[in-house]
Amino acid sequence: MVSMSINGRTAPLVDSHVHSTFSPDAHDTIDAMCESAARAGLRELCFTDHVDFEPRDESHGYLQFDRYQSAVEQAARKWEGVLGVGIGVEADYQTWYGDRVEKFLSGRRLDFVLGSVHWVDSLSTTGEIFDRYELTEACRRYLENVLGLARSGLYDSLAHLDFIKRYAFERYGKLPLEAFSDEIEAILRAIIDRGTALEVNTSGLRRPVHETLPAVETLRLYRRLGGELLTIGSDAHRASDVGFAIPYAIDLVRCVGFRYITVFHYRQPKCVNIE
Ligand SMILES: [Zn+2]
Ligand SMILES: [Zn+2]
Repeated sequence: MVSMSINGRTAPLVDSHVHSTFSPDAHDTIDAMCESAARAGLRELCFTDHVDFEPRDESHGYLQFDRYQSAVEQAARKWEGVLGVGIGVEADYQTWYGDRVEKFLSGRRLDFVLGSVHWVDSLSTTGEIFDRYELTEACRRYLENVLGLARSGLYDSLAHLDFIKRYAFERYGKLPLEAFSDEIEAILRAIIDRGTALEVNTSGLRRPVHETLPAVETLRLYRRLGGELLTIGSDAHRASDVGFAIPYAIDLVRCVGFRYITVFHYRQPKCVNIE
């Protein structure tokens, strides 16, 4: 097992959220991403290329699943014994198309399904939502969609729960998400009830917002409510970001009191000890 010393302790490194050129907004091939992962000492990498159902999203209809599947399988064979390579998708959710997500997933051979809210009422959460609604209303609507995702039970893990803060930060500074603690608690209770994991996404640490998505307060609340399943991902869209801040994220969740993180194989959770 390849592992890395974190604050004097050893934990295996896994990255369960990366994008290859099978996503329109990513830059490097599956093989280049694997090479970078192996160089960074990762033990396991799961590809989660975009599947978006919002017609206005550039990812809409972009993924050629059969080609994607054979490319990931080829990489898994090539890197066997060095790096575990999994196949997943990051499937977008809006309340009005949950049934399309279900239809897409049905019968597909996948290791991992991440659920994201990137659009709300067909407005992008990267900008348009703030043009249409004032900040509090934008956050309320965003979290309402995340709650729908959480209740859908369609996904293995809920990606970047407070994604909206990443872009809100650039306009408004730090979001007062404490004002939405009831909504966040309802989301966490819903994923716990349905056995869906919570993702710790490190992409915020490479952005001005400079914190994980979600931040440590939400991880503490998840733990207090009895949440146990955490997946960890860099959300890398280029090879140089594979494994980004994964040791930091593992350290963070260990400090919050988690003793293991979770990876998914054939959509079944497996514990990776981080003690
Ligand atoms: Zn995303
Ligand atoms: Zn992503």
